Amino acid sequence: AAAMAKSKFEYVRLYESEDKCLPNTWIVVRVDGKGFHKFSAEHNYEKPNDTRSLSLMTHAAKAVMEEFKDISIAYGQSDEYSFIFRKETQVYSRRSSKLSTNVCSLFTSAFVYHWNEHFPTIDKPLYPPVFDGRTVLYPSDQNMKDYLSWRQADCHINNLYNTTFWALIQQGGMTPNEAQEKLKKTLSADKNEILFSQFGINYNNEPEMFRKGTVLVRRRVPVPLPDGGIREKSQIVQSFTDVIGEDFWNENSYLLSS
Ligand code: ATP
Ligand code: ATP
Ligand code: MG
Ligand code: MG
Ligand code: MG
Ligand code: MG
Repeated sequence: AAAMAKSKFEYVRLYESEDKCLPNTWIVVRVDGKGFHKFSAEHNYEKPNDTRSLSLMTHAAKAVMEEFKDISIAYGQSDEYSFIFRKETQVYSRRSSKLSTNVCSLFTSAFVYHWNEHFPTIDKPLYPPVFDGRTVLYPSDQNMKDYLSWRQADCHINNLYNTTFWALIQQGGMTPNEAQEKLKKTLSADKNEILFSQFGINYNNEPEMFRKGTVLVRRRVPVPLPDGGIREKSQIVQSFTDVIGEDFWNENSYLLSS
């Protein structure tokens, strides 16, 4: 190839700092909606859980996984999604900001692009959603599993709180301030008890998508061929499974380091 012409301004590139992720570590990119408390109110989200938004978030996450084949697991809840790249990935030479900005930008544009499919009856124009993105590295399988457990535990704690909070308001006739006051200093068991005794809600019967969040994994699945044969195809498989216990990891050990 011909030598690239260099201007006297070329030196300014040296001011860019290198941000390559350490080799042989799990790379996690998490995106989170900016001010979604307000965004969800402006777009009349159903409380505590708007299923349209959760399915749109997952649609956007699948678009990210389609583009970045080295993402093997994604986990989403509320206004956030985490993407886990294979430890060995060389995409963008593992440059941290390349990874977080590309994932975040694609996630955001897919969220906007598919908005109308998931919110067909909202006539108010979409107020441009913003997501932040960050890259975090985890050296061991246990760290990576604990990261996902942390997000799923967060989903559980928030969802139990929100379910009780909104039951007190929507069915109990409380104001948000009264509901907040009532839930102050309550433990999980107290919230379960309020839900059951006052509203006849057994928290464990709430939809798994709300209680557990959404897990996406890339998995080879057998696909039947027209001639009767079978071919293995890599697919993105969605579930609302528990990732805190060992069962998920025993059943999907291919996701861990070899
Ligand atoms: P920040 O910019 O700091 O992230 P935020 O308002 O987005 O601020 P989060 O802690 O990210 O705060 O919380 C997201 C909020 O968005 C939730 O508290 C909830 O009010 C709302 N939200 C997100 N997803 C949904 C949903 N599917 N259904 C109902 N409300 C939702
Ligand atoms: P990378 O992902 O590495 O940035 P790239 O294809 O975006 O790859 P760039 O060096 O950023 O490469 O160059 C952008 C390219 O996009 C240009 O080479 C040109 O082909 C095209 N392009 C961008 N803006 C315009 C425009 N306004 N009109 C026509 N072509 C454009
Ligand atoms: Mg926050
Ligand atoms: Mg947010
Ligand atoms: Mg959030
Ligand atoms: Mg470019």
